[in-house]
Amino acid sequence: MAKLYFHYSTMNAGKSTMLLQAAYNYQERGMRTAAFIAALDDRAGRGTIASRIGLTMDALPFETSDDLYAMVDEMHAKEPLACVFVDEAQFLTREQVWQLAHIVDRLDLPVMTYGLRTDFHGHLFPGSQELLTIADELREVRTICHCGRKATMVVRLDAAGNVVREGAQIEIGGSDKYVSLCRRHWEEAITCE
Ligand SMILES: [Zn+2]
Repeated sequence: MAKLYFHYSTMNAGKSTMLLQAAYNYQERGMRTAAFIAALDDRAGRGTIASRIGLTMDALPFETSDDLYAMVDEMHAKEPLACVFVDEAQFLTREQVWQLAHIVDRLDLPVMTYGLRTDFHGHLFPGSQELLTIADELREVRTICHCGRKATMVVRLDAAGNVVREGAQIEIGGSDKYVSLCRRHWEEAITCE
């Protein structure tokens, strides 16, 4: 039975590396895959999934208005797919998460999604909230805080290294950096100067 998977973590935990490895495992067995990435994430160039260790793969950029079920249904009808991958899955709309569920349930294709659980305010992304609700398999990709505890939260730092406490949930590029922290150090970072 095909399943909908959600691999979630904070920033810089190696999610894209895991996606690229998993996709490679299909491709080396001659199996065809489809990969999507949020169009607004163009850090590596539009439609490119890139890992920090240097691997890259072409992917279809998705907008929030795209019907991912319709796109995959058409591709799968032309030439059968073995698996569908989605990077930066936190940027999916709730409707798109359900479209992915329909790919699993109606086309019997596994869908592997990778994304951030929470934003720098400590709030769930809408796409992640829906995936945490309806995915068949939840897999946490672990990374650690500077103290050695598991990092579950993320802070945004401006160019001067100061913690950003306000602003939009989605901001890609620019000079801000994101750092993954444990809950205790995240709370200290956002409440203290
Ligand atoms: Zn810590």
